[in-house]
Amino acid sequence: MRSQHIRTELPGPNAQAMLERDRRVVSPSYPRDYPFVMSHGRDTEVWDVDGNRFIDFAAGIAVCSTGHAHPSVVAAIRTATEQFLHISSDYWHEEQIRLAELVAEIAPFEEPAMTFFCNSGTEAVEGALKLARSTSGRQRFIGFIGGFHGRTMGSLAFTASKYSQQAGFFPAMPGVTHVPYPNTYRPLLSGEDQGKAVLDYIENVLFQSNVPANEVAGILVEPIQGEGGYLVPPESFLPGLRALCDRHGILLIADEVQAGAGRTGKMFACEHWGVQPDIVTMAKGVGSGMPIGLVVAKRSIMEKWKRGAHGNTYGGNPVCCAAASATLELVRGGLMQNAATMGAYMTERLLELQSRYPDVIGEVRGKGLMIGVELIQGRTARTPAKEMTDRLLTQAWRNGVLLLSCGASTLRLMPPLTVTKPIADEAMTIIEQSLKAVL
Ligand code: PLP
Repeated sequence: MRSQHIRTELPGPNAQAMLERDRRVVSPSYPRDYPFVMSHGRDTEVWDVDGNRFIDFAAGIAVCSTGHAHPSVVAAIRTATEQFLHISSDYWHEEQIRLAELVAEIAPFEEPAMTFFCNSGTEAVEGALKLARSTSGRQRFIGFIGGFHGRTMGSLAFTASKYSQQAGFFPAMPGVTHVPYPNTYRPLLSGEDQGKAVLDYIENVLFQSNVPANEVAGILVEPIQGEGGYLVPPESFLPGLRALCDRHGILLIADEVQAGAGRTGKMFACEHWGVQPDIVTMAKGVGSGMPIGLVVAKRSIMEKWKRGAHGNTYGGNPVCCAAASATLELVRGGLMQNAATMGAYMTERLLELQSRYPDVIGEVRGKGLMIGVELIQGRTARTPAKEMTDRLLTQAWRNGVLLLSCGASTLRLMPPLTVTKPIADEAMTIIEQSLKAVL
């Protein structure tokens, strides 16, 4: 089935003309999968420049949490722009203070929280790393195989989901040691409980042989691994990691850039395990599309760094702060609950799809509206089906659904948190038809 709203061959003539202009002047480094050229969007639907309509299950890489152009977010932006567009972090203004107060209300700590403002996920990670180093007096960090934390030199030092992100850029920031992320579908370590196996490896191998625990400033972890394949860790892992950090005076830094802001059905993914990190990074879904990143830390940590230790020009921009406050109010006011409900519904439908295609769908996993569908070649070997995943993405676009992939061969479904049952049903039908077409 192709959406009734696909009117032209794809890409259509207007899209082709723009792709041609783009090829001459825009950096070719962007990892784009298929040529969707956007005209406009409303809620979970987007239109291309040829008038074709698509269901957006990519949400600008998990950014458009409130859907495209949510009226409350647009109104908040409009009101803010009528006051002023920028003043810089050298001064004070109410939108920034108001957002920090709101974040302090929702932060996943019992302790009061403080916020540092920046413009993207990678910058939030850089800020968290600097905060951890400067307040702990320690230099080293631990990150995870399969992790994605951004593409600037500090965050890139942790990013380990695809080699293409690293190739040609070595050396990034020194002092980062990677350990396996607990992967229950394709275990990297022996043992029934992969969470425990990873913790044992850190404690009994790494700390004993190579990386002294008392030199480690922080452990940077995605509570649910995003780019690495939408991997949900086993129950033991995050509470065990918290305990390990406490034993050794290490800061636990939760990268909630992708999983946070309600996407998993809770405001922060770490809350699924009742774990309180010391520092949290946020971006993506917080701003509904306006560029904003946040480093949120326990006050006892953030109040330690002094004037001049870290700053920027645009962080706390009033227009982005207004968009973020409006977004977070919508998220806690109901969208987070919708993410839980619709996530459960979509997961159920995908599990039913898996039961009909057990040789190509290896696993359906995730929480809320962060759902991964592992595509495989053969049930027993669980071999990743990379080429089929790429073809499926393109086929789904041709049929009217925007999707992205992650991991070795995982289809990722991350619609806006506003997604409804009729839209989800339409998308599911198109995804199944697309799967049939590529098989
Ligand atoms: N951290 C996580 C978990 C992410 O998923 C991403 C982006 O995908 C980043 C950090 C980097 O964010 P940005 O692309 O805004 O720099």
